[in-house]
Amino acid sequence: MKNTEEQLQNSGIRPTAMRILVYQFIEEQTSAISLTAVESHFERSDRTTLYRTLKRFEEKGIVHQINDGTGIPKYALCHHELHNKKHNDLHLHFHCTVCGETVCLTEHQIPQITLPINYHPEDINMLVKGTCNKCNL
Ligand SMILES: [Zn+2]
Ligand SMILES: [Zn+2]
Repeated sequence: MKNTEEQLQNSGIRPTAMRILVYQFIEEQTSAISLTAVESHFERSDRTTLYRTLKRFEEKGIVHQINDGTGIPKYALCHHELHNKKHNDLHLHFHCTVCGETVCLTEHQIPQITLPINYHPEDINMLVKGTCNKCNL
C-alpha cells in the first residue's frame, strides 16, 4: 500500500497536511461517511476547506459519492487498482436500515444492463437496502 502523500500526488492532488488528514480519516472508516461526520471530526477546521477537499477528491476520483436514499450524500474511497484509468464506480452499495451504515460492496459489480437504443448511460447508482451482516448476527 502506497503512502497517502504518494496516493494524492498520483491523483493530481497537492498533498497538504489537511488533505492527508481527511484522506486518512476516510480510509479508517468501515462505512461511507457524510460531510457532516467529516466536519464534526475536524471540528476546528474551516468547513469550506473540508467541503472543497471532498469535492476535489471526488473530481480526481479519490472518493465517490453514494446516494443511499437518506438525502445525505456519503463518501467512500475509490479502489483504483480494480478499475481502469477512466474512473467508474460500478459496484453495488448497501444501506442497512438498522444501523444506518452504507457500505461499498466492491467485490459485487453491477450486472451489465441493456438500455433502449440511443440511451447512453453516464453513471449507474445501484443501492441495495436491507440489514447488514453485523445487524444479522
Ligand atoms: Zn447494520
Ligand atoms: Zn462505493
